[in-house]
Amino acid sequence: MSDCLFCKIVARTIPATLVYEDELVVAFDDINPQAPTHTLVIPRKHVTSIAELQDSDVTLLGRLLLAGNKVARQKGIADAGYRFVVNTGADGGQSVFHLHLHILGGRHMSWPPG
Ligand code: 5GP
Ligand code: ZN
Repeated sequence: MSDCLFCKIVARTIPATLVYEDELVVAFDDINPQAPTHTLVIPRKHVTSIAELQDSDVTLLGRLLLAGNKVARQKGIADAGYRFVVNTGADGGQSVFHLHLHILGGRHMSWPPG
């Protein structure tokens, strides 16, 4: 998608601090971090949200989560704990409509979320 911000990050036409990448996903630090560690993992292919995933995307979804675990280890927050967040749609608080997994850590996370 030519007008999608995160597709542009995948294409390297917009800069980002890349943390991890493989043939299916790319991870980069959030530009407006909400915790000492705040990294996003996204599929290379454009998927609007988790609600749009198909049965055929089961490997992609698994790899997205596994990449999140790799990022957590790489960032040194795996032992202390961390939070995965996938905001979906308007009420879910999604603001960028290219599926992304937030990895948040480095501080205690409260519950319930706002
Ligand atoms: P959402 O609100 O859709 O769940 O999360 C979108 C996230 O993307 C936000 O945390 C926001 O700070 C981040 N973001 C928005 N624009 C950019 C950008 O240009 N670069 C990076 N690295 N993160 C961005
Ligand atoms: Zn996109």
